[in-house]
Amino acid sequence: MRRLFFLWLALFLSMGASGESRTQVVMLGSGNPNADPDRSGPAVAVVVNDRAYLVDCGPGVVRRAAAAEKSGIAALNVKKLNIVFITHLHSDHTLGFPDLIFTPWVLDREDPVQAYGPRGLKDMTRHIEKAWKKDVEVRQHGLEQANATGYKVVVHEIKPGVVYRDDNVVVTAFPVRHGTWDQAFGYQFESKDRKIVISGDTAPTDEVVKACDGCDLLLHEVYNPEGEELKQEHWRQYFKAFHTSPEELGDIARRAHPKLLVLYHMVFEKLPEEDLVRQVENQYLGRFETARDLGVY
Ligand SMILES: [Zn+2]
Ligand SMILES: [Zn+2]
Repeated sequence: MRRLFFLWLALFLSMGASGESRTQVVMLGSGNPNADPDRSGPAVAVVVNDRAYLVDCGPGVVRRAAAAEKSGIAALNVKKLNIVFITHLHSDHTLGFPDLIFTPWVLDREDPVQAYGPRGLKDMTRHIEKAWKKDVEVRQHGLEQANATGYKVVVHEIKPGVVYRDDNVVVTAFPVRHGTWDQAFGYQFESKDRKIVISGDTAPTDEVVKACDGCDLLLHEVYNPEGEELKQEHWRQYFKAFHTSPEELGDIARRAHPKLLVLYHMVFEKLPEEDLVRQVENQYLGRFETARDLGVY
């Protein structure tokens, strides 16, 4: 009887309080192209039970995952990182891709990486493989005796719609508007206990509203339009076409009505964070937070 109780307790703890599934979002990088030492490049982990699903891999992704594991999130053990959904191919979102391919392999990951993303991801991957060809040869055929599989990448160039499903999640890609990029995606993750939507980089789009529609958590990008740089016409045009202002975000969030809105990829334009927060508060009365690296939502 006692044994049965402990078995039940272990099962309960492993499955989370809902009794079936436990979903968390871990912010691995809340930043953007700016080299902010406190904000790694854009990368998010959706953790469902013992599995981590990455969205984007900005610079710093593997080390931030290691930090999250240290703080108790076992699914972010670097050897377990082997699936990523790329929103678009801007360098701030993909500079950590070689890191994700090679670092866990050097640490003995055996599974190849499954990478989902837009047109051009195959090309990018081929070039990365070529660039580190010598490294692979030396590690595999030299004294390190590295395995022959863990550095490989299976690339899935996707279209909007359901792009992935397993026992934990269904992942749906939706198109977003990111200036002159021919393809950029946001992602919706549906697990047994939560619905999570990640905007990626985007100008305001109803696709986010549709994908969220009362979701538990919406991660959305935002920029501060009051910065000095925005006085120049070409930067104003750029931000308008590529990103979302607080006023636009307010409109999106009111219609998407997430239970919690988390701002990430915040472009502060050298103004204090509070300045951006105040502008969002003026536009949106719902619950929101600003993301921090290693924040858990
Ligand atoms: Zn970006
Ligand atoms: Zn971008």
